[in-house]
Order: sequence, then C-alpha cells, then structure tokens
Amino acid sequence: MTRPGIRRQGLDDVKAIPILEVAKALGIRVKGTSALCPFLGHEDQNPSFSIYPADNRCWCHRCAKGGSSIDLVAYAQGVSVSGAIAWLRSQFYLDNQTSSPGILRKSVSLAHQARPESASTIKPNSDIYTALLEQCPLDEAATAYLTSRKFTLETIRYFKPGTLTNNVATTRILIARFGRPALVQAGLISEKANRICFIPPAIIFPFYVQGCLAYIQARALPGNSAARWLGLRGVSKPVYNHDVMRKSRSIYICEGVTDVMSIHQMGLAAIGVLGGTTALPKDVMKELRAKDIYIVPDRDAVGETMAQHLKAQLQRAGLSTVTKRLDMGGDVNERLMMRGPR
Ligand SMILES: [Zn+2]
Repeated sequence: MTRPGIRRQGLDDVKAIPILEVAKALGIRVKGTSALCPFLGHEDQNPSFSIYPADNRCWCHRCAKGGSSIDLVAYAQGVSVSGAIAWLRSQFYLDNQTSSPGILRKSVSLAHQARPESASTIKPNSDIYTALLEQCPLDEAATAYLTSRKFTLETIRYFKPGTLTNNVATTRILIARFGRPALVQAGLISEKANRICFIPPAIIFPFYVQGCLAYIQARALPGNSAARWLGLRGVSKPVYNHDVMRKSRSIYICEGVTDVMSIHQMGLAAIGVLGGTTALPKDVMKELRAKDIYIVPDRDAVGETMAQHLKAQLQRAGLSTVTKRLDMGGDVNERLMMRGPR
C-alpha cells in the first residue's frame, strides 16, 4: 500500500512515544501494567488489557488484539492507522515532520522532537477560552449525561460547563475573532491542524484561577470515540476549582473534575489535580497554608501514588494532611452514584 498521502518514513518517532504516555493521553486508567480494555466494542469488566512498557506494546487477552502505540490508538478510537498516526503526532507535538515529505528521516529522539521553543510560547489566554465557552452553551445531551452521574442542576450550574457540538464552526468563529496564531499560542490548536484540539460532542469544563479562565478540559460525551478527556496543548494545568480555596478552611484534594463536582455536591470544598499531576503549583501551596487538608485518592494504584506524593510535598512545606479513604466506589463520583446526593 503506497498511498501518497501517508508518509511511510519517519514513523520511528511515533513508535518511540512511551506506550504508557499514549495510554494516559487516551484517558486509560492503567493500574501497574493492566487496565480495562480500551478497545471499541469491548465492555471490559475485569482488566483484560496488558501494557508491556519494555517492548512498547499492548495486548487485550479477550479481544486477542493489540500491538504498537499506533494500534492502541487505532483500536481505542476506531480510526485508521493513518488517523492514529496523525493523532499521535498532534498529541505529542511531532506534527512538524510534514514539512519535508519524501526525505527519508533518521529516527530522532522524542526529547528532540518536543519543540521546547514552541511550547514555551504557549500560554493561557482567558479571552479566547471565554469566547470558546460562549460558543458552547450546555446542551441537553450534556445535561443528561451529568444528571446520569447524579449531579444536580445546581451543581452543574455552579461549575459552568458547556457543550462543544461543532469544532469546525467553532474554530472558524475563533479564528475570525482572534487570528490563528493566537489560538496556537493559547494551546487550542496545533500548528498544522485545521481545527481546535477538542473533539465533539464533548463537555467543556472551565478552570478559573483568581476569577480568570485559565484552562479548559473536554470530556467526551457518550458516542464520541475520542479520548475520554482532552486538555489544551502545552498549557500547564491548574488545579480544578482553584478559587474555592479562598472560601473554605477545609480543603479536599482529589483527582479530576468529576470528583471535585461530587465532593462539592456533598457540601465540601474540593480542588482537583489532573491526571498524572503529582506536585501542586506554588500558588496552590501558598493558598493551602493554615487550611485543614484532606486528600481523597481514588481506590487504585494511581490514586495511592498521587496521595503519597502530595502528602510528602505538603509535609515538606510544613503542612499536615489527612488521607480520607473512600468506603465505597472506586472514586468519589462512583460513591456519589451509589449513595445518591444528600
Ligand atoms: Zn479487549
């Protein structure tokens, strides 16, 4: 197969991306080296999926398929091999390779390809994120999904999420208003892409820091085969619900957006650290001084690691914490779904 559109050379850099990083980017929760199978069509109840970091490969023992990072993305997202390669290039900033087609490339280390000079110019842009959110009013499907997770309308309104239904039209509007370079610098669009990095239909969650919209994360709605969670490209992730720290003496630290919403609905103040973050930013450490701090880890290996890292970091700064273990459910939202709202 030699379709002209597909670059056959230079796949070494794509294949060099650590498969655990790819799994993380797809929103797969890996416990050790196993996970629930992420492949489309397999509703896995017990982890059937193995990752072999040393070989950079994966395998589902039930589906009897797997392979490289490229195969992982293709099966998990239901896209072609070339679609999976394009997705990986865009997620891991490798897409500048399109600049010299036809030239056989030597394999280059991933670190070399990360384009730090470009990443350093990327910074949050509150005006652009606000305009995006204005284009994305929360729709019925998103409300129904959130309600199915047992969130009340009051909770939903408090966190001000929106729904992205058409990223082509949204991209066009934002480019007309701000220009393409500004969107690239805001981490919303990659240099080679023709649309913003979030894939519809998705719920868009705004992250406010000191009242300013500092980050956006998208959660795929059912029927969307893209990664479950997608973030901005190259923008550092603030904690979710940051500004609650000014309002409450007791702060619960948990993983991610839905856990924060669940704890909020239980009448408590929570901030969320996003997947893989194991250190709190300086401004958050400062806000946490003189607070009662509770860490609520998910009941899995990732949750335990997060709790230990955060506890150690807070202790080094002279802040003591209490780790609250969930009595039921794998995470706070599951617990909320079992017990129902208070
Ligand atoms: Zn499977």
